[in-house]
Amino acid sequence: MSLRSESIIQSSNREVRRVERLKDSLGNPLPVSEFFGNRTFGLDNLQEKLSRDTFDKLMAMVNDGQRLPKEAGNEIAHVVKEWAIAQGVTHFCHWFQPMTGLTAEKHDAFITTKSSELGQTQVIEKISGSNFLQSEPDASSFPSGGMRNTFEARGYTTWDPKSPLFIMAHTNGRTLCIPSAYISYHGQALDNKTPLLRSVEVLSKEATRFLRILGHDDVNKVTVNLGAEQEYFLIDRSFYSARPDLIMTGRSLIGAQPTRGQQLEDHYFGSIPSRILGFMHELEQEMYRLGVPLKTRHNEVAPSQFEVAPIFEDANVASDHNCLLMDMLRRIALRHNMVCLLHEKPFAGINGSGKHNNWSMATDTGENLLEPGDNPHQNIRFLASLATVLKAVHEHAGLLRAGIASPGNDHRLGANEAPPAIMSVFLGETLTRICNQLEKGEVITDSAEESVLSLGVSSLPVVARDNTDRNRTSPFAFTGNKFEFRAVGGSANVSVPVTFLTAATADAFRQMADRLEKKIEAGESKENAALSLVSEVLKETKAIRFEGNNYGDEWVAEAKRRGLPNLLNTPEALAVLRDEKQVSFMVEQNVLNKEELESRHNVMLERYNKQIDLEARTLLEMVDTYVVPALESQLTSQATLVEQLDEAKSKTAIAVARQRLAVAENTYCDLSDKGVRLAAALDALQSEGDEIKQADAYANSVLPAMEAVRVLCDQAELIVADKTWELPKYREILFLR
Ligand code: ADP
Ligand code: MG
Repeated sequence: MSLRSESIIQSSNREVRRVERLKDSLGNPLPVSEFFGNRTFGLDNLQEKLSRDTFDKLMAMVNDGQRLPKEAGNEIAHVVKEWAIAQGVTHFCHWFQPMTGLTAEKHDAFITTKSSELGQTQVIEKISGSNFLQSEPDASSFPSGGMRNTFEARGYTTWDPKSPLFIMAHTNGRTLCIPSAYISYHGQALDNKTPLLRSVEVLSKEATRFLRILGHDDVNKVTVNLGAEQEYFLIDRSFYSARPDLIMTGRSLIGAQPTRGQQLEDHYFGSIPSRILGFMHELEQEMYRLGVPLKTRHNEVAPSQFEVAPIFEDANVASDHNCLLMDMLRRIALRHNMVCLLHEKPFAGINGSGKHNNWSMATDTGENLLEPGDNPHQNIRFLASLATVLKAVHEHAGLLRAGIASPGNDHRLGANEAPPAIMSVFLGETLTRICNQLEKGEVITDSAEESVLSLGVSSLPVVARDNTDRNRTSPFAFTGNKFEFRAVGGSANVSVPVTFLTAATADAFRQMADRLEKKIEAGESKENAALSLVSEVLKETKAIRFEGNNYGDEWVAEAKRRGLPNLLNTPEALAVLRDEKQVSFMVEQNVLNKEELESRHNVMLERYNKQIDLEARTLLEMVDTYVVPALESQLTSQATLVEQLDEAKSKTAIAVARQRLAVAENTYCDLSDKGVRLAAALDALQSEGDEIKQADAYANSVLPAMEAVRVLCDQAELIVADKTWELPKYREILFLR
């Protein structure tokens, strides 16, 4: 039996994996609230277990960055150890987000040895404060983008107390994970988390200053909230195992379009298949125990594509939770004999996977800055915050584009399903009307029924919430009380785009505050100063607002007229990180210094080059070992047929057979030719020492050469006898479950 038939039989015989729900003593399933977070240990738990004095010292570190005294560290480590051991944990690890975009961990056992009186080795469970707070993983195995020479190959992970500790339970053991930041000996950020924390701090400072000038004297802090909607594909493990491209690169490099794709639009919001629902239930149960508040689940547009979204949380925690979610999606899929694909474009011609980042800002007085309020005073704040974000996107569009750049996302951005690589903001009908009026300095008198704009007591607008009008094609859309950054890729580490967006907004707040201050000093009332500032900024940033169809070619032309950047691929987008004009504000903010920016550029570019290289080589291997042999056996049998028909003197049939043979022959020869060209394009790169030029060649010569090869492979799939085609086809991978 062929490998492919075997995969089909295996996959169609699978049953739903049964998992016991957590039960109470009477055997009834426990409600989620009873076990939510039972594998986590955060500030609440620490407060309960620590002495008053130690907890105060911990909070002084959390809130004001004060140094934690050694004894306090030891007490914290002890309390954590006691809790973890009681849960059956044997090991601990610092869990962090290196620049590779994944998470990393290095495990240590909780044991320490001691010698008995007679010299025999004994162990006790122990972790010192210093081991708990800091660890030194072998830094040389993580990319630093040239920031860390080997002679100072030291990097440290340090505990991030704002993100709860959690226990990862595996089949035969449990590990305590300590969420951490990863920095070099000289304090440079070697991870994605540290810059995120810095950006949130800067935003808090700048937004607070702005709000106070506006008269909100009670605000001391502003935080960033994030809800990341995760799209993913689930496919049967046996199909995955029979596809070298999925195993090696996470996406299918060849595969003809199935006769049925997503044109029937019957998958989206359809009933969830039971095997998938079985998977989702287990995922949710595990994530709840890890303290991740998953809220929604549904089918997505493409066959075998799904989405899961948590309730939003503080950006730092939300980022850790999204990393954890991606990890658990993969692990739990395997338990169900499925593989979870997070790649942005695992199947050509079918929707890819994004991760909408829902982003907002809130004050420590509990107000969402992007929430239109019920009174004019709140609405000034809302409109000013809105204008600030518009300014951020307008001024830093290139940087926002760089933050979502990856080889996978290049296939998605600009394809007819995902927002294009051009950054623009969608506000919806009501807000657009308000903005257009404010921009002209007009007093707002509109009173369209549902929009309820009215003149407040002091001629200030009242804005009713409107999220009815939703434009799915926009990369950055206002949705009621938050912005939705939709261009982020499915496999992305959200820390990167959120850092850039947050830093950009902080920069815009700084400029807004300066301007507001000047106006007030010049004698304008706070309200009037704010309104006229909003009006000016709306005018200045008008180019970034777009309500139309972002998928159309007209928009590409229009965006060009407006002077908006259209950075088509990852190398072009990453160049922004080396453009002093575009990134110096982050250096000034201390979010990322010059070296850190350069290192990010280097790491991302190197990953791009390696990924395309891997894809090209995998494709060539598949051509040689699958596609060409299949075509050859097709040619042999067709040539034999022609011979036999010739002998039998069958005039009409032989004409058809010869024609079919000619088609196969053409495909065979063209494929050989295109394969040679791809190999040559790859070879030509080997002598190129400059990574930037290499990336350019991968984007502009290797990828098109791969595409040319693919077209012929897909043609071959459609002419080779089904029984001789070894690779699982799209229709099987996507429609059988
Ligand atoms: P949709 O698919 O309609 O966009 P979902 O419910 O799938 O909506 O996802 C919306 C996401 O936005 C959720 O993660 C939700 O918690 C989050 N969200 C809601 N309000 C805010 C807010 N103020 N700030 C940040 N995220 C938010
Ligand atoms: Mg959404």
